[in-house]
Amino acid sequence: MNELLERVFKISGENTFACYQCGKCSSGCPLVEDMDITPNQIIKMIQLDDEHVLKSKTHWICASCLNCTHVCPRGVNVAGVMEALRLISLRKGVNKVDLRKAEEIERMPQIILVAAARKATG
Ligand code: SF4
Repeated sequence: MNELLERVFKISGENTFACYQCGKCSSGCPLVEDMDITPNQIIKMIQLDDEHVLKSKTHWICASCLNCTHVCPRGVNVAGVMEALRLISLRKGVNKVDLRKAEEIERMPQIILVAAARKATG
């Protein structure tokens, strides 16, 4: 097992090799247009042990809505994989979420606040 794949597996328990690149996770994601790499591409990069995946903003944009996880025909918890990537990044000292610097916090939808709070804990 490669290193990134193993770290993602240890944190999320997900076998990303189950993915066969149907793209349903990406097509069902409400935030995909703001991502630089689509969720199915993220899974592919993990399979290929491509550490560049950690430089993506996708796992920080993910709001943990679980739509991807719900539609995956292979039972991959894509949202759990995104959480694993956030944790790996946080453990490297990279944190792209700081609620204290968020503007207009009182006008944000609740799901954004909850997702941001989840991302901020590591
Ligand atoms: Fe892979 Fe599941 Fe996404 Fe399809 S929905 S691309 S099988 S992770």
